[in-house]
Amino acid sequence: MCAYLSKITVLMYNYSNYNLIENDVSGRYRKGCGVQYREDKMAENTNDKQLARDTTVMEPVIDKHYQLIETKRAEEIIERAMNLAREEIPKGKVATYIPELGKMDPHQLGICLYPLKGEKICIGDYDTRFTIQSVSKVIMLIVALEVCGLKSVFKKVGMEPSGEAFDSLVELDVSNSKPYNPLINSGALAVCGLLLPEVSFQDMIRYTRNVCSDMGIELNEAVFDSEMKTCSRNRSIAYLLESKGIITTDVEDTLRFYTKMCSMNVTAESLANLGKKLANDGVCNIDGKRYMSSRTARIAKTLMLTCGMYDGSGTFAIKVGIPTKSGVGGGLLSVSDKRAGIGVFGPALDAQGNSIAGCKLLREISNKLRLNLFYDPEWDKEDSDETVLKDMQARSVM
Ligand code: GLN
Repeated sequence: MCAYLSKITVLMYNYSNYNLIENDVSGRYRKGCGVQYREDKMAENTNDKQLARDTTVMEPVIDKHYQLIETKRAEEIIERAMNLAREEIPKGKVATYIPELGKMDPHQLGICLYPLKGEKICIGDYDTRFTIQSVSKVIMLIVALEVCGLKSVFKKVGMEPSGEAFDSLVELDVSNSKPYNPLINSGALAVCGLLLPEVSFQDMIRYTRNVCSDMGIELNEAVFDSEMKTCSRNRSIAYLLESKGIITTDVEDTLRFYTKMCSMNVTAESLANLGKKLANDGVCNIDGKRYMSSRTARIAKTLMLTCGMYDGSGTFAIKVGIPTKSGVGGGLLSVSDKRAGIGVFGPALDAQGNSIAGCKLLREISNKLRLNLFYDPEWDKEDSDETVLKDMQARSVM
């Protein structure tokens, strides 16, 4: 236990003296930067084409340093996006393969957007507790990279999107190789096999509380028991991993450790706090403490972009363009790099097991607040569907 404690304590101690980021907690927004909105074009509309056009008629709510410049305005935009997102809820379903999750009210929806500079925006069910589920795979990856090192982690798991369901074992079985990435069940179970000799679940929950700035995070015993009774698929994956020599720890202990990690109760606000640290290179912008190395933060964000939404990752990257990790409890952890951490909670899920209203909400705010990873306020004044090569006669760039 002492050995366990020391690994993460040493990690936190080593980082405690870093203060790389200018600390601007007072962070008042620069008001009145000549921001003008054309209210007439902002009417609610569920039509995607109309939404795409809407993004071209609104001045950005972020400045050229990517920071939100108008909290009030951003809040109104998010409220509108929430209303649109709610319309998606009837198309989704809460997860029932873990019976306890089936009891959740599908109509809940909440968001916390926490910018690096300025005030956080919390709307709806942002402080409702729900189980973190697969979002914890990001935390397991972070700790494994920090405690076990990059080489040992990527000896056990790959870095590629799988294009498969999160609990798939088909490719793993036939290809006779390691899991595709650490953000699917097989990959996370392999990571747990690495973590188990190094840290205890108590270490992990303590780190989770710190990195999420939420001392209220506890194990949800009911969800844990419920999943342990019905996890035959994960059990099969874990034994398959053992047969391939990827898991060398006790399989049942590894499975329990993994399932406990999935059963921690968080809120959208706790996820936003974690997202904010990832957005800020692993450092808390309030107390200046470093929670992970730059390299770990970068790897986590990259894998979130390419693999965080399972077999929906490519579509999500195109439509939303914000590195995000989902969980079947309805949580979404998003990182708008150098700008904000975002946590969303919406338990009605789509076919891939991602929050259906949460994805819509992120898509909307990505467009409206211009949070897409590849958006640059310096280049792209008009994000329209016009293309430069459409008119073959005018292909001056060809
Ligand atoms: N605990 C869940 C499982 O292993 C997590 C899955 C998820 O959130 N996608 O099936």
